[in-house]
Amino acid sequence: MNGPVIVSSLENLPPSLAASVTPEEKAYLGTLGSGGRLPFSVTSHFASLAEPSGEDPVRRQFFPDPREEERTPWELDDPLGEACHRAAPRLIHQYRDRALLKTTGICAGYCRYCFRRVWMGTREGFIREDELKPVLEYLSAHPEIREILVSGGDPLTAGDKQLGGLFGELRRARPGILLRICSRIPVVLPSRITSELIALFREWRPLRMVVHLNHPRELAPQILSVFAALIDAGIPVHVQTVLLKGINDSPELLAELFRECADLGLTPYYLFQGDLAPGTAHFRVPLEAGLAIYRHLRKLVSGLALPVYAVDLPGGGGKIPLHDRSIAGERRTPRGPEYLLRGPDGSLWSYPKET
Ligand SMILES: *Cc1c(COP(=O)(O)O)cnc(C)c1O
Ligand code: SF4
Repeated sequence: MNGPVIVSSLENLPPSLAASVTPEEKAYLGTLGSGGRLPFSVTSHFASLAEPSGEDPVRRQFFPDPREEERTPWELDDPLGEACHRAAPRLIHQYRDRALLKTTGICAGYCRYCFRRVWMGTREGFIREDELKPVLEYLSAHPEIREILVSGGDPLTAGDKQLGGLFGELRRARPGILLRICSRIPVVLPSRITSELIALFREWRPLRMVVHLNHPRELAPQILSVFAALIDAGIPVHVQTVLLKGINDSPELLAELFRECADLGLTPYYLFQGDLAPGTAHFRVPLEAGLAIYRHLRKLVSGLALPVYAVDLPGGGGKIPLHDRSIAGERRTPRGPEYLLRGPDGSLWSYPKET
């Protein structure tokens, strides 16, 4: 391969893409090194899928946009309320039988709509021994946890040895715990999914992958062979997608994406309504429009290719499936009109009506 694998400056972008950068974008890019902002980086593979236009659905996912500085009254630093369910500094235990581990604050490339953007801005590295210790103690003390989401950041930015070490510790604390690897790397850095990594995954089964994938153009030839290899190795692969304005907010496009996934043997799992992360309003599809897209999508695809449309209730209410009956009411507030959504326990949570 020519040039760096990870691109984090304009100079290393493909020339046509670099030429498409506006003065405003360039100025904004220059500010990202400070103030805990989400860094800029993209893999050269993912950048190669982008077209040199500000509207391009691949380019918009990774190229910093000055609108990220705009904040709506609903946006929260911790949009999912993860702090309410923190069991240890890196561990979130929100649902009885599964817990989520933030293994690292590093990703191969940064998605501009990332809901964990504030944590990512801290640039925390791979979990250290002293950080893992309370996690293992918690797992030992909570036998109801039978699944651990190995999340981040992107856990596959760590090396095989680090990952094997982590899996070993988790299984020592809780024999047989199901490992759910949450990653975008198969899509943005397919070369990372080596035969050694796949062998490691096999060794640590039961293990499943949930891959973050948003647009049919991301299904490049290199990643098709990666998915085929994972599936051949007996690793179930699920897909989660973020509904993004101007990127994939069309039932036909989503139908194409999920059909292709199903044909490849991947299971569409979740289609997420945008979280209220700061500076992401330009990516959010209004809830009512999202419901209409999903209603249409259901008619276009087989049940086998249909993910669950869901939202993580802002402030820590948990994930709920979204359908027309999820909206329990609406009200006007000083910050604007909002919907009331019913949480898993029947409690009511706000979500903005516009974005
Ligand atoms: C999404 C999530 C899970 C997993 O939920 P599933 O519905 O099983 O996918 C677990 N813990 C946290 C904190 C989550 O955000
Ligand atoms: S891969 Fe996930 S954690 Fe990393 S920037 Fe994208 S959305 Fe955020």
